Amino acid sequence: MSWINFEEFADLSKLCTIRIGGKARKLYIPKNVEEVKNLLTEASLKGKKLFPVGIGSNTVFSDGLLEHFFVLTRELRKTKTWRERENFFIEAEAGVSFKTILSIVRKYNLEGFENLSGIPATVGGATVMNAGAYGTEMSDILERVYWISPQGNLRVFERDEIPFSYRYSPFHNNGFVYKVVIKLKASKKDIRNTIKKLLEDRNRKQPLNYPTSGSTFKNPIEKSAGYLLEKSGMKGYRIGDVAFSHKHANFLINMGSGKFKDLKRLIETAEKRVGELYQIKLEREIEIVE
Ligand SMILES: Cc1cc2nc3c(=O)[nH]c(=O)nc-3n(C[C@H](O)[C@H](O)[C@H](O)COP(=O)(O)OP(=O)(O)OC[C@H]3O[C@@H](n4cnc5c(N)ncnc54)[C@H](O)[C@@H]3O)c2cc1C
Repeated sequence: MSWINFEEFADLSKLCTIRIGGKARKLYIPKNVEEVKNLLTEASLKGKKLFPVGIGSNTVFSDGLLEHFFVLTRELRKTKTWRERENFFIEAEAGVSFKTILSIVRKYNLEGFENLSGIPATVGGATVMNAGAYGTEMSDILERVYWISPQGNLRVFERDEIPFSYRYSPFHNNGFVYKVVIKLKASKKDIRNTIKKLLEDRNRKQPLNYPTSGSTFKNPIEKSAGYLLEKSGMKGYRIGDVAFSHKHANFLINMGSGKFKDLKRLIETAEKRVGELYQIKLEREIEIVE
């Protein structure tokens, strides 16, 4: 394999927003599509699990030394924009952050992205998770996805070919989303003001003053996960320095020097309580990497 930038014994707690985790034996940081393809081929030949990392806002790493093939998307952040009549397209590599998309949206007053604007994400992570908020999902604004298979082959999918659903895409734990094309519209509305209000709403509802990994569980059909956790006595429940937030019961927060074992015990306690009280099996939204 040609030389690709990597770090040894990388601190995983710095690669996720809840700031918990041990070390990665090797963390690769590719700069272009060829390097990503090579990494996938190499991982598949070695029979290793390749784990892409965006900003880790949906990810928690265990303590200790992890041996996976970690691939950070930080250096994949090229963007290209163009207009076709009233449509505005943004082509963005996997590591482009939602903050960058938001600045393009604000600059050109574009419609379609506003509901997603406060999600801490990279374009790659948001596509894989089909991230969503206020009734909009990533899949609603995608035009095209450039995906590299686990064997290292690049394929292009038009939006209609991809079976997205609630917080699901077929790309999860399956190859690598290299880049996407987002389709938005030039708007006559005051999009900046809409975004301002949505960000204020998030600030009111979410514990953004602590390191957190966002929603821990997906919402079951019957009731919201937050409601079930609150009714099961999990709101504010703390083990060590990790707790389910008082402000939003479905958000785990790190109150200082949170440990992975405490986080895991909290999740298992919540699953058990909700299971016993409501006969509902909570499905994890956050990804635990051990
Ligand atoms: C404060 C806060 C608020 C949040 N609010 C929301 C919300 O409103 N709605 C919502 O849906 N989510 C929300 N989240 C969760 C999280 O922001 C989203 O899931 C986001 O899309 C994750 O993006 P990421 O780049 O950090 O992905 P990561 O956490 O880095 O990765 C998530 C998954 O995607 C995979 N992945 C990442 N990049 C790629 C790639 N290029 N190719 C293939 N696989 C890849 C990873 O391997 C992992 O399985 C919130 C989180 C926080 C901390």
